[in-house]
Amino acid sequence: MAALLVSMPQRRGRWPLPARRARQTGRAGANGAPARTRARSQPVRVANARSDLHTWSVRWIDISVPVRDGMIHWPGDPPVCVEQTASLEKGDPAELRRLTLGSHSGTHVDAPTHFVEGGESLDQMPLDATCGPARVVRIDSPKAVTPDDLAAVGLEPGERLLLRTRNSEVRWYERPFREDFVHLTVAAALWLAERRPRAVGVDYLSVGGFAGDADGPKVHRALLSAGVWIIEGLYLGHVEPGRYELVCLPLRVERGDGAPARAAVRTLQA
Ligand SMILES: [Zn+2]
Repeated sequence: MAALLVSMPQRRGRWPLPARRARQTGRAGANGAPARTRARSQPVRVANARSDLHTWSVRWIDISVPVRDGMIHWPGDPPVCVEQTASLEKGDPAELRRLTLGSHSGTHVDAPTHFVEGGESLDQMPLDATCGPARVVRIDSPKAVTPDDLAAVGLEPGERLLLRTRNSEVRWYERPFREDFVHLTVAAALWLAERRPRAVGVDYLSVGGFAGDADGPKVHRALLSAGVWIIEGLYLGHVEPGRYELVCLPLRVERGDGAPARAAVRTLQA
């Protein structure tokens, strides 16, 4: 049985309790909040069955954007509508909303079949494509991500790479669509395709550009035909560059070309 214990800076009693025990005791924090939520951001030292120690933080950072009525969407895609169809306040027995949106709304995953005929669809997606160790890197180029930018941050085989660009300097998801968002150049997409990361995540609605001579379809095709899964619509303004564990799970849409996803990263400190 693993010994669970710690040195925690603000230790109040023996936190954290294993989740099951915490539930059983119903122990609450000083402010009445459930104990488990208070323990969440505390570094915890753990000895596993082999008695070797490692430390990690249990703080999850949400990197997906909120889905709301009328939110930003790719020009020409269906608008995002969140319509309340039943209301407790109005006497209905439950709250209910109707969601109408395109498959590439907000934070979402692109499946190969989005641009590659016969490519995998979302229901065929291996879950480890977008869940597992990942690295957030900062790209400062003001207009587009180039092969030089990527070479500067390097790439390890099979890596999940999340690109934080100037798009994340503002909460872009609360603003109107802008045509000049930072995107991958075709050359950058080909650079990646050659090295085959497991997944690439970007902080706007598309990996490919919109304006000028940007060739969005070509960028998508280069990545998706090389087996690189794409996460689009992330917000990374509150995430420092570094190594994380990523969880990003799109809806399991049959034959899906894309679907909204909740995405989060957790710091890993070995
Ligand atoms: Zn997409």
